[in-house]
Amino acid sequence: MWGGKGCGAPCDFCRVVVSPEEIEYEVEARLDGEPLLLHFHVRCYDSWRTSRGDPRAGEAPATPGK
Ligand SMILES: [Zn+2]
Repeated sequence: MWGGKGCGAPCDFCRVVVSPEEIEYEVEARLDGEPLLLHFHVRCYDSWRTSRGDPRAGEAPATPGK
């Protein structure tokens, strides 16, 4: 999982495209055993992670270029 500038992909939480001016988090997830790449706004990633009940919640993602 990593953060970077938006690449034009829609956020998988709010369905709004992450603009190039915004930081986007890419998260590798698995759905029915299939690898899946999810894109999130920073705020949406927090909401998604919380709603998902991820036991790793609280783990800070790396933010390159900072
Ligand atoms: Zn979003």
